[in-house]
Amino acid sequence: MLAHLVPAPLVRIFARPYVAGGEMQAALDTAGALLAERRVVSTLDVLGEDVKRPEQVLHNEATYTRLIRAVAEDPRFAKKAERPTVSLKPSAFSIEADKKKAFEPIRRIVERAQAHDVAITVDMEDHRWTDVTLEQSVALFEEGFDVGTVMQTRLHRTEADLQRIPPKMRIRMVIGIYPEPAEVAITDKAAMKTRMLAYSEALMARGVYVEFATHDDACVESFVRDVATKYPDLSEVQMLLGVPRTALQGRVMEGAIGAALPVRLYVPFALGWDDATAYLRRRMAESPSMALLVLRNLLRRER
Ligand SMILES: Cc1cc2nc3c(=O)[nH]c(=O)nc-3n(C[C@H](O)[C@H](O)[C@H](O)COP(=O)(O)OP(=O)(O)OC[C@H]3O[C@@H](n4cnc5c(N)ncnc54)[C@H](O)[C@@H]3O)c2cc1C
Repeated sequence: MLAHLVPAPLVRIFARPYVAGGEMQAALDTAGALLAERRVVSTLDVLGEDVKRPEQVLHNEATYTRLIRAVAEDPRFAKKAERPTVSLKPSAFSIEADKKKAFEPIRRIVERAQAHDVAITVDMEDHRWTDVTLEQSVALFEEGFDVGTVMQTRLHRTEADLQRIPPKMRIRMVIGIYPEPAEVAITDKAAMKTRMLAYSEALMARGVYVEFATHDDACVESFVRDVATKYPDLSEVQMLLGVPRTALQGRVMEGAIGAALPVRLYVPFALGWDDATAYLRRRMAESPSMALLVLRNLLRRER
């Protein structure tokens, strides 16, 4: 589907299930309900990537600071193991060509998060961000901050990058969502999934904590049965809010496949719809069938 051609108002309607809402409280309540009703934990994300103006950087830093405080002060998340982590995208924090600049506000956010006992995950964007994101995230972790990041199995470089990750760091393993040129990435999805398993095992064998993030049932089952079970307490399964996988998540948490693992959902929210559109377009492109389902339900409601 040519998601980039769909007008923004339609994208919002199609993709509403993927976003917790237009305010911070809605995201906290979504995380609270997931925990209370299903024992599912969350990672909260403020949508607002690819900023163009300095005031957007300031706004994003202020919003993340508020979010961290709100998470820490919310009695529903008093236990550390149940507390939402916070995910952020470096492109929400820099308008400069020098991508390293993004990590100045990110460092301040990480310091505030540490003071409130909230863990941070630095999302991975397209391949122009890979090197700086890995370098800076690993450096923050090695300084003692609870910072994790993401590795994308579609990239040719990822196998070599595994060596850069120190034991105990958190790594979310994904296939990657950004369309990449052939020089840097493969396009065969089955191969990306095979790599998810192999790369996760390589990291876990060295004591790295893996957040296995996919909605592919067979891939989740193989991971839990063949990898996670060998390395107790060293992994969790992650999925996106809005992708219907309740039964699979239940089986993972109950230990019906192998080791019982925590399940964490990625819960994004936006303080303005314009901030959410890029994320929502990616979700639409990834799941045209979901978009059609939403449209059908909408039309039914209109009749
Ligand atoms: C928690 C989490 C965090 C992520 N963080 C990053 C990141 O930082 N950087 C990055 O590049 N990528 C990230 N991703 C995206 C990831 O790279 C994949 O693009 C995405 O998860 C789709 O691939 P898949 O492994 O689920 O497999 P697929 O083979 O694409 O999908 C497997 C099945 O799930 C269904 N499905 C997949 N996506 C959707 C959807 N949106 N709605 C409905 N059904 C769907 C498919 O139809 C198919 O049936 C993240 C994904 C998750 C779950």
